[in-house]
Amino acid sequence: MFMRQDSIYFIDPHIHMTSRTTNDLIAMKKAGIVAVIEPAFWLGQPRTSVGTFKDYFNSLIGWERFRVGQFGIKHYCAIGLNAKEANNQRLAEEVMEILPLYVQKEGVVAIGEIGFDEQTPLEERFFRLQLELAKSLDMLVMVHTPHRDKKRGTSRSMDICIEHGLNPSKVVIDHNNEETVKEVLDRGFWAAFTIYPKTKMGNERMVEIVRQYGSEKIIVDSSADWGYSDALAVPKTALLMLEKGISKADVKKVCYHNALEAYSQSKQMQEEDWLNGTQHKEGEFYEGNSVLRGQESISSLIIR
Ligand SMILES: [Zn+2]
Repeated sequence: MFMRQDSIYFIDPHIHMTSRTTNDLIAMKKAGIVAVIEPAFWLGQPRTSVGTFKDYFNSLIGWERFRVGQFGIKHYCAIGLNAKEANNQRLAEEVMEILPLYVQKEGVVAIGEIGFDEQTPLEERFFRLQLELAKSLDMLVMVHTPHRDKKRGTSRSMDICIEHGLNPSKVVIDHNNEETVKEVLDRGFWAAFTIYPKTKMGNERMVEIVRQYGSEKIIVDSSADWGYSDALAVPKTALLMLEKGISKADVKKVCYHNALEAYSQSKQMQEEDWLNGTQHKEGEFYEGNSVLRGQESISSLIIR
């Protein structure tokens, strides 16, 4: 069982909680995760109507926020049209019509995750439209970089952000690797890293990146979703960094403070939110539903 490091709190600023179980939530809370950001993404199969986008966005700002809060973890989200589904033009246009309503809801810290998948013209078109939306509302952007042709896709994503007049300090470029990190940092963007569970405890490559580039503007996340992934990737990597001699101050920066600094620019997320307790009191109901299933309390399940 993974136990938290004393006195270190963690933020996982990219995790798809809607795909995760209550066992994950209990383990995350025990490991010291105090807040999460859940960006809108695709669901593993294409959606067929704008109605399912509406329901999904509503769950991110409603039920999931409540459900995660019941486990003592603050939940925020990013709302956007993901790159894959930007390729369904008719549907994408309908989603663009409802986005302005959802991105301004309470707890939405950014427009995201948006960007490129296969780097098609339609992906570029809807990426640009959403950057314009972010700019008009002075919002942050969480950028998903492509897994194929990553270096070019990452450079291009940043070029387009600059072209649309976004301030790099309000853009988080995610899914970086050794090939992309230098350019992202040199250009003043936040550089986020997704830790995929290649090893059981944390990620050696991430340790080396922090050793080489320091902790400034670097953010660690799990991107845990419905695929093979680890909801404890952030605390596990923190532990590995400490074991490998990275200073506690640097570990705190990349696993907590930088995400807070980046996303608190939204004015939707501040440290007091969790230092003063989570928004929902245990045993509360959300539109008539609780998560207790006959349990008296959740805190009794989270023995520290
Ligand atoms: Zn994601």
